[in-house]
Amino acid sequence: MTALTGNGTAQALNDKLANLDLATRLSLVAELGGRSVFTTSLGIEDQVITAAIGTERIAIDVVTLETGRLFQETVDLIDETESQYGITIARYVPAQDDIDIYAAQYGLNGFYDSVEARHACCGVRKLKPLARALEGASFWITGLRRGQSGNRADTPFAEFDADRNLIKINPLADWDIDRIKAYVADNAVPVNPMHARGYPSIGCEPCTRAIKPGEPERAGRWWWENDEKRECGLHVAEATPIPAPSAA
Ligand code: SF4
Repeated sequence: MTALTGNGTAQALNDKLANLDLATRLSLVAELGGRSVFTTSLGIEDQVITAAIGTERIAIDVVTLETGRLFQETVDLIDETESQYGITIARYVPAQDDIDIYAAQYGLNGFYDSVEARHACCGVRKLKPLARALEGASFWITGLRRGQSGNRADTPFAEFDADRNLIKINPLADWDIDRIKAYVADNAVPVNPMHARGYPSIGCEPCTRAIKPGEPERAGRWWWENDEKRECGLHVAEATPIPAPSAA
């Protein structure tokens, strides 16, 4: 069997995916063999991908990182989406030991105090569960778009993630927000009601605020940090230090 990973495979896939529609992009990846995992945050882009997977019955595992700090609207949307498409969205939760260690070191809401504390919290609640969710995966599907932030402006359709030894697939890389909204309207895709209240990008409740008119889409995420590269670590190469779990 041809190796499904590496820069060469990713580049060839990137070229192939460019001229396909969304469902065909996803189907092509699923048919390559190996496990394909889609991580959804239940954001509007991710709902478009879930709709395509659910409607076309594409063999891709749909998972979400249930951090324990999500908005109730997001939690409710997980159930609603499963019901609408007849699919299961696997919930990956943080380990209680890790949360206890974090809280002892930084305080439960210590993420406001420093970038290091914030990265450590995202490490415990997102990165470690993500690593479990991606175990054995050959392909990781994401809802990243070039228009979401300057940091994502060069997002390719396929890229090799050497740290995780898999190929990351971004099937909406070239979609703008208007196209996303049109797909949602045309296909009656369920979306988080918070989008209509000024939240284009929704993460954990304590770390997300509504944006003001004219602000970038992700300006409401970790708004207190004065850093143009604000991310949770899921989509950046640098590893974030994570407290080790206790021996218990
Ligand atoms: S977004 Fe905030 S609450 Fe959620 S994991 Fe990151 S720091 Fe913790």
